[in-house]
Amino acid sequence: MNTEQLLNSLNISAINHGTATGLVWLNNDSEKSNSYSPVDGNIIAEYFTTSEENYNLVIEKSLEAFNVWKLWPAPKRGEVVRQIGEALRHKREDLGRLVSYEMGKSLQEGIGEVQEMIDICDYATGLSRQLYGMTTHSERPGHRMFEQWHPLGVVGIISAFNFPVAVWSWNAMIALVCGNVCVWKPSEKTPLTAIACQHVIKTVLEKNNIPEGVLSLLNGNRICGEWLTNDKRVNLISATGSTAMGREVGKVVSSRFGKSILELGGNNAIIVCEDADLKIAITACVFGAVGTAGQRCTTTRRLIIHSSIYEKFKDQLVKAYSQLKIGNPLIQENHMGPLIDKDAVEKYLHTISLIKEQGGNMIVEGGVLSGSGFESGCYVKPCIAEVSHDLAIVKTETFAPILYFMKYTDLDEAINIQNEVPQGLSSAIMTTDIRKSELFLSHAGSDCGIANVNIGTSGAEIGGAFGGEKETGGGRESGSDSWKSYMRRQTVTINYSSKLPLAQGISFEL
Ligand code: NAD
Repeated sequence: MNTEQLLNSLNISAINHGTATGLVWLNNDSEKSNSYSPVDGNIIAEYFTTSEENYNLVIEKSLEAFNVWKLWPAPKRGEVVRQIGEALRHKREDLGRLVSYEMGKSLQEGIGEVQEMIDICDYATGLSRQLYGMTTHSERPGHRMFEQWHPLGVVGIISAFNFPVAVWSWNAMIALVCGNVCVWKPSEKTPLTAIACQHVIKTVLEKNNIPEGVLSLLNGNRICGEWLTNDKRVNLISATGSTAMGREVGKVVSSRFGKSILELGGNNAIIVCEDADLKIAITACVFGAVGTAGQRCTTTRRLIIHSSIYEKFKDQLVKAYSQLKIGNPLIQENHMGPLIDKDAVEKYLHTISLIKEQGGNMIVEGGVLSGSGFESGCYVKPCIAEVSHDLAIVKTETFAPILYFMKYTDLDEAINIQNEVPQGLSSAIMTTDIRKSELFLSHAGSDCGIANVNIGTSGAEIGGAFGGEKETGGGRESGSDSWKSYMRRQTVTINYSSKLPLAQGISFEL
């Protein structure tokens, strides 16, 4: 299938509407922008960005839709989500291919991302029958107490470029079954996959007579995101992106007493112990560091290696890096595709110069690739720097395939190194010793939202709650009880007695 056929199959034209209220594409936006592919540097298509007027129209439609949607029984909402999952199944390969072409991740990862959307639809469908509240015992006779959960209202979803569609679906499918309506502002770097998704969903919304405004789409840059974050009508903002973005969004949303879920930057480490299964460890470390060209929030950025295996591990890692194939991510044999754009390449180069300036030693050199197949200027070499753990540059997230390699002598020291960065998303230990893995998982262990044993830092499953601590923002999305973030809790006490006893034994006689 060539690009033209692919775009046709996903309803992407040369020029696309960018704003939709679920059922209806708004056709009066006037500003246009381009979507570029980092794979070949070509413009894939044009799209209209959302005007402020249309933004307001979308929110008005969302508020109206909420009044209807929230009254649908949750399992009925779940049935709609099930159908969205089915519709995505039919477009799995094509949408995955567009994710890969527009974002630059490998085709397998692009298709995997759509699979993740399908998985979360299945999960949310089941969840729609499990939005449980707890009951508890009242201290007053003849009273009953319980908690129930109500939808919040309008959920604004701001997503990052590196997971152009999956992270939206984690939020939207859960928020939907909870009875909310959703407004999505995708990354301005990956607008077309969002537009293609909206086309897929529209068919399901139409078939089920879903009110206009249940699942809406905006397109634009941070200004469009700021309309959402500043808007009191938007009850919850779920924002995925850099820590710098989250700092702004968190401030703005909390100042208006809105709720937020922040999913921000990571600086993830793997501790490799002296008793690790090195075959597993090498594969996990290389995939963790170079998968998605180092542009996953869970990318492995730091390796903390026991001194007794340090040199051996280094040799094996360097050898593994020499076998990596970099190139067009749509060609299956390539392990790594491009960075998202030339700005990202500049940041990568700047970080390498800072590593050198701060005393790091490049054991696998980086650089920008040029020549045939690399015309977009976005292909770089994955590199490894041997560093002291306390370098300033090691504490920051550079969204590129740069791996820091460092040494430890005892596990407490390794855990301290792992925890000493400001971010707290994902972490892993490679060991065959249960004492070490249990220490890593204990209160004295990893301070991250995700802690893995004998698995790398990336590649989370949707069944678990996903998110991280510290500057990663503290939000949780996807599985487990993350749904509670999309609802408001109400504590109910019912007096079925013929008296009015007061709590804490207080008496009040008239
Ligand atoms: P980014 O912060 O540049 O942009 C993310 C989104 O926020 C975009 O849609 C952008 O338009 C919007 N935005 C930016 N500033 C805003 C503001 N002030 N108000 C409202 N919206 C604003 O991030 P990016 O480059 O697209 O993505 C990479 C970053 O995302 C990395 O730091 C990565 O670790 C992080 N990320 C985190 C997770 C997670 O779950 N923790 C997942 C994916 C990506």
